[in-house]
Amino acid sequence: MRAVTFRGTHQVAVDEIPEPTILEGADAVVRVQRAAICGSDLHLYHGTIPGILPGMTIGHEFVGTVESVGSQVQYLKSGDRVVGTFHIGCGGCPACRRGDFHQCSQGGVLGYGIAFGNLAGSQADFVRIPHADINLRIIPPSLDWDRALFCGDILTTAFGAVKNAGVQPGETVAVIGCGPVGLMVVISALVQGAGRVVAIDRLTERTKRAESLGAVPLSSEEKNPISAINQLTQGEGADVVIEAVGGSKTLEMAFQLVRGGGRISAIGVTAEDTLAYPLMSSLTKDITFRIGVANIHRDIDETLALVTYGRIDPTVIISHHLPLSRAPEGYRLFAERQAQKVLLALD
Ligand code: NAD
Ligand code: ZN
Repeated sequence: MRAVTFRGTHQVAVDEIPEPTILEGADAVVRVQRAAICGSDLHLYHGTIPGILPGMTIGHEFVGTVESVGSQVQYLKSGDRVVGTFHIGCGGCPACRRGDFHQCSQGGVLGYGIAFGNLAGSQADFVRIPHADINLRIIPPSLDWDRALFCGDILTTAFGAVKNAGVQPGETVAVIGCGPVGLMVVISALVQGAGRVVAIDRLTERTKRAESLGAVPLSSEEKNPISAINQLTQGEGADVVIEAVGGSKTLEMAFQLVRGGGRISAIGVTAEDTLAYPLMSSLTKDITFRIGVANIHRDIDETLALVTYGRIDPTVIISHHLPLSRAPEGYRLFAERQAQKVLLALD
């Protein structure tokens, strides 16, 4: 089968590799119909994630058709249309039993290397999904592949980050980063009742894209975000800040944008170990700071329903549909910010 493999920094290839097989009774093998390139894949591409080795199959956003299931799979059968969660939970460990599937002691992230469970990725004709009943959701018949795909990662990641911030009706939400995840934050915050969303990016055209989705655009190339937010909120600051870039620079900005008593919810991925925590100002301002990878299993049924009923259309951010054979070009365009969201078609 064909698979997108990591070759080294800024190098991916489409290789012929053996098809996966059922290894455990709870496994399913899925024939992938669409895979997407995520901002998290860019960290691999830029060589900042340890434990990804040349030759490994990458990718974690996908939809497809169940090809075969192991003897212990109860709720899925060959031919079912499914969307996969980007991280894998076992459903049985203490963390999964608490509902913290993203903390599963047996799990990991598809196609993210040794440090994340050493699982083969989904930018391939077939992918093996462990604990299939837990990690695959059947796609409602009326939902097309492209819409469903977003529920397995970036829409649900963004939706969960907004939920974690406890956005109240009418509140002002600032989102730092208008990549695909930031744009999903704009949509999710408005659906969850935000009064307005101020969308910050250093690329002016990306803030314009956010504006077209209903946000107030704020280009950090053109304006200082801190004084602009202060002006918009009469010196108060944003009720909620969602950080959707990754790293200490934008986290520091989040602390400067949030109002006293406000909440920060951070989802950007970083390989930095530490942040110089603004201890005194957080204490006096009474800031709630939350950071973590997404718990897709917690929120995916909600996002699937919102997409199915037409309340959210994540496909508006797709800029490129490419065949799998053009994945290297898709990575390059996305990394160079010439593509907003790349979907790879396998059919
Ligand atoms: P992306 O790289 O396409 O977008 C990042 C955006 O941030 C770009 O538009 C860029 O111009 C902007 N940016 C960079 N530095 C900035 C700065 N200093 N100020 C303002 N804007 C800046 O990535 P994406 O697909 O949108 O993903 C965003 C982040 O979310 C990534 O770090 C990704 O790994 C992460 N992510 C996390 C989870 C999770 O579970 N927590 C899931 C999916 C993605
Ligand atoms: Zn992702």
